[in-house]
Amino acid sequence: MRSHDTHASSPAEFLWHGDDYSCAYDALITVLYDTWTNNTDHWTKVFNSITQEHLKPLASGFKKYLMGVDDMSLEDIRDILRKRLHAKHPTEFPMGTAGTSAAGLATGIFYTRKTLAFASVKCTQCDYEDNPVDGSLGLVLYEMSNKSESTGLWLKNLEHHTSEKCQDCSKPLQKSISYNSPPSLLIFEINSNNITLRKTIGFKGDDGMKVL
Ligand SMILES: [Zn+2]
Repeated sequence: MRSHDTHASSPAEFLWHGDDYSCAYDALITVLYDTWTNNTDHWTKVFNSITQEHLKPLASGFKKYLMGVDDMSLEDIRDILRKRLHAKHPTEFPMGTAGTSAAGLATGIFYTRKTLAFASVKCTQCDYEDNPVDGSLGLVLYEMSNKSESTGLWLKNLEHHTSEKCQDCSKPLQKSISYNSPPSLLIFEINSNNITLRKTIGFKGDDGMKVL
């Protein structure tokens, strides 16, 4: 989770739902709230632009909590989000003691129908290059088996598997995935300890380098 350099405040804390496993929700909402409070106007816009479905109500919940409207608590926000996700996808987001992974939860909340990325198709052998196609890529990235040393290299080496062959030399083609424009937010699911996490990520665009 990317956030601007955090000022020295401790993250909001949660009352643990002992009878209803909610730790994935607590963890994610804590991080999102912490990020959101760094720049409430900016992050409200970002949340609304990604998806209206879960992130817009989340941002307005955060605002109510911050302003003390309706005695809204972070637990209320969590429970509302959880009920909404459960109503839509009962198997992926169960109530009760069945666990939900934080990454699965993030994927559900940040799911967007927008095409965010494109795949450039190149031959691994000759100079053949095909027109770019839409790439399926969301804002939540899972660590793959081919481990990267850093989040920067990870983003640089995103690929889709393809069994297509070059029309000129019949060698395998390579589909590299890039974001169309620098995403306003990225979530990485990390499973290994030997990856370097950077708080800033540079994107090379037509108008130069943009640093997130
Ligand atoms: Zn070729």
